[in-house]
Amino acid sequence: MQVLTGKSILNGIAIGPVRIYRRARQEISAVSALTKEQEWNRFDTAQSKAQEQLAALYEKALAEVGEDNAAIFEVHQMMLEDEEYTDAIHDIIERQGATAEYAVSMTGENFAAMFAAMEDAYMQARAADVKDISQRIVDILSGQGDRGTLGEEPVILAADDLTPSETVQLDKSKLLGFITRHGSSNSHTAILARTMNIPALIGVDFDESWDGKTAVLDGYNHCVYLEPNSEFLATMEEKRNNDRKQAALLQGLKKKPNVTLDGREINVFANIGNAGDVGLVLQNDAGGIGLFRSEFIYLDAKDYPTEEEQFSIYKQVAETMAGKKVIIRTLDIGADKQAGYFGLDQEENPALGYRAIRICLTRREIFKQQLRAILRASAYGTVSVMFPMIISVREVRDAKEVLEECRSELIAEGAAVGEVEVGIMVETPAAVMMADELAEEVEFFSIGTNDLTQYTLAIDRQNPKLDAFYDPHHPAVLKMIRQTIEAGHRHGCWVGICGELGADLTLTETFLRMGVDELSVSPLTVLPLRKRIRSLDLSKEL
Ligand code: PEP
Ligand code: MG
Repeated sequence: MQVLTGKSILNGIAIGPVRIYRRARQEISAVSALTKEQEWNRFDTAQSKAQEQLAALYEKALAEVGEDNAAIFEVHQMMLEDEEYTDAIHDIIERQGATAEYAVSMTGENFAAMFAAMEDAYMQARAADVKDISQRIVDILSGQGDRGTLGEEPVILAADDLTPSETVQLDKSKLLGFITRHGSSNSHTAILARTMNIPALIGVDFDESWDGKTAVLDGYNHCVYLEPNSEFLATMEEKRNNDRKQAALLQGLKKKPNVTLDGREINVFANIGNAGDVGLVLQNDAGGIGLFRSEFIYLDAKDYPTEEEQFSIYKQVAETMAGKKVIIRTLDIGADKQAGYFGLDQEENPALGYRAIRICLTRREIFKQQLRAILRASAYGTVSVMFPMIISVREVRDAKEVLEECRSELIAEGAAVGEVEVGIMVETPAAVMMADELAEEVEFFSIGTNDLTQYTLAIDRQNPKLDAFYDPHHPAVLKMIRQTIEAGHRHGCWVGICGELGADLTLTETFLRMGVDELSVSPLTVLPLRKRIRSLDLSKEL
């Protein structure tokens, strides 16, 4: 039995076969050792295989997400047959004696650059599509098969690293857990793993020979065991079953209030990334959704989700929550959350870059599409809107102005629109310093401790080398939280915490004593947090 250690991002045990996630691109050699005709035939065969894959993907998407969402695969099929595209590939093979991989890859890059330079937003978005189909053919040519599909049997996925968009696209029903060589425990991929309740380890130096072998991922002990003997396997299976029993015991706390022994009651809400997480929210009896990271809808799409697509998702969530609060955070894209079709530039300092509200206030057509969808969904439940990465009063006023513009337009169109509570994320030191002024503008604050820690301590939350320095318990961070709660209350705002620190049971008492009104955590943490709150007595002196 081989044992490797890593860093756990979710306590839990996963047992099953390892599957290596093959994203790493092979080196593409430019010059072919084959004849031009042989290279062209290779392309021809790969093109047919890609057509078959896309046809199958279209059928799957049609059944799972409907015709509108499936249409992208039809677009890809058409692009694949486009005469200009195939002529360009042919030309590179003919003139340069290139490999089919090289010819496809160069053509993909050239066409993507051409699309990206066009004025029309629709055509710009095609840049990502042409790259995608080209990569699909290169994968087939280099024997890498289907990307991202996990096969029939549930697996522990082993990857160099996973981006948030790759993670959201994985088939959760086939994912027992994952291990990655790189990554940081504060990244959005880690947050997703926690939301989806998937045991995961980062910093594990596995090798290719692990593919297909049985492993035990032990998130409690930060270890992964390869080919365990039957005795060890039985012990770990028992531990995993105990976990399940503990989770079942916590179910006894369902429908109980989040109230301390001395009678202080607060809201415990849940964080979600898509409509599929709402089942977990209800199963774990969260009082509402304190953070709907709407950008995951964008990351899971191949093109800008339309107003209609977004409306149907938000409406579904609002209706399913049946009147409980649903706080939709507007698009927080950028930094580690990248969707190719946005065409965002590579930046020197992406965490300090063009992201979130900065994109929304400068690309208003995208922002308006989302706000209109949220406003329309508000007619079907209790919906709040929350703006991320705020640093100034000006931004809040501008964002509210766009919201009001959308409301007036919808009313003029005769659409049903409900009341929408407006709040902001407090996740920059600037927002903390301006909390009194900002509180005059909104009805609630939700403290994003993940970014607040990053920006207060000047520590990149994505950098695994800094994990040991990233200390959300730092007195500076705790002082910022206290100041925000106090400033919010001075102006009649309720104040919650939706960053990962809200789930830290060692700080629950501190937050309650500070006067926090709401904690929003991953769905699986709702009941352990309720248990913790119900054990506290705030009347006792510390
Ligand atoms: C935060 O920054 O704490 C937060 C909740 O937002 P995200 O983790 O998505 O940046
Ligand atoms: Mg944040």
